Amino acid sequence: MPRPILATVHTQALENNLLRARAAAPDSRVWAVVKANAYGHGIERVFEGLRGADGFALLDLEEAQRVRKLGWRGPILLLEGVFEVRDLELCSRLDLWHTVHCDEQIDMLAAHKTNVPMRVFLKLNSGMNRLGFTPQRYRAAWTRLNALPQVDEISLMTHFSDADGAAGVTSQVAVFAAATRDLPGERTLSNSAATLRHRASASDWVRPGIAVYGSAPDFPAHSASDWGLQPAMTLTARIIATQELVTGDTVGYGSTFVAPGAMRIGVVACGYADGYPRSCPSGTPVLVNGVRTHSLGRVSMDMITVDLTPIAGAGFGSEVTLWGRAANGVVLGIDEVAQSAGTVGYELMCALAARVPVLVQD
Ligand SMILES: *Cc1c(COP(=O)(O)O)cnc(C)c1O
Repeated sequence: MPRPILATVHTQALENNLLRARAAAPDSRVWAVVKANAYGHGIERVFEGLRGADGFALLDLEEAQRVRKLGWRGPILLLEGVFEVRDLELCSRLDLWHTVHCDEQIDMLAAHKTNVPMRVFLKLNSGMNRLGFTPQRYRAAWTRLNALPQVDEISLMTHFSDADGAAGVTSQVAVFAAATRDLPGERTLSNSAATLRHRASASDWVRPGIAVYGSAPDFPAHSASDWGLQPAMTLTARIIATQELVTGDTVGYGSTFVAPGAMRIGVVACGYADGYPRSCPSGTPVLVNGVRTHSLGRVSMDMITVDLTPIAGAGFGSEVTLWGRAANGVVLGIDEVAQSAGTVGYELMCALAARVPVLVQD
């Protein structure tokens, strides 16, 4: 029997979440962002649930190839554009749209031999200072691109640094509006947080990622359920042993947990080698048989320990939900677990280990 751990990808949850994003931006087309192997879910596994999107946005040519292999003929956007001239050949062959964020990428385009001009997304650095031309240099880049026979339509793009927080998007929207004034072309600005929280900034295309996987981009200000989002991934394992502790007994490496009294604990077949963060402290929420309890002591490579005292009837073989939806329908949000670990839902999804088997479910 395989080790009792399983990740489940929920097709209906993906469909629901995509609809929520659409409802938040009813006049926009929606890129489903599937970079990082669909935020750890697996591109092939999410495809059915996200095929209602208007396009797929990602970073890797290899991932773009996989999306085409699934039969997708619609738009695909490379969010970081190309990394070397050769990549442009694949862009032509696979009909990929790509971001242009620096002069080097324009040089590559100018050197690219093609009969079919390419659609590009010219990126403005509106304040995040990662990718994109500064407002001062944006028009010159547009003019240079526009003069290239290799370039067809030019769309206009930027990315927000604070859509999830107090600073918001106002100043970056203003920078974008000023830098792109009078320029033709479609616009795309919003990630998940902006799509949900700053609806006025929606433009021709929105680019939700985390929201379609059912995590709130602005937790704990909002939870996923506040936004009507459902977990696209459930991580489940089983209890493989139990122990009866008396006062003063300790649990796990470093003996960091000391039993304050008699208690029953369960050992769960899930550890940091499965992608469950080692940084989760004692007290991190888990569900056993769909009932909330918490971890005890340190996370080890292959196991964690949980308090079974509050859960009558739980024992060897009981279902443990690390995040997502339990068999009884109760949800433990990945954002809660991430917060306990001092990180965000994104990182937990992306870190799901290759050794965890994954099931796709309607
Ligand atoms: C990752 C990414 C997104 C999606 O961000 P979420 O916060 O996951 O919605 C959108 N746009 C760009 C350019 C990205 O790199």
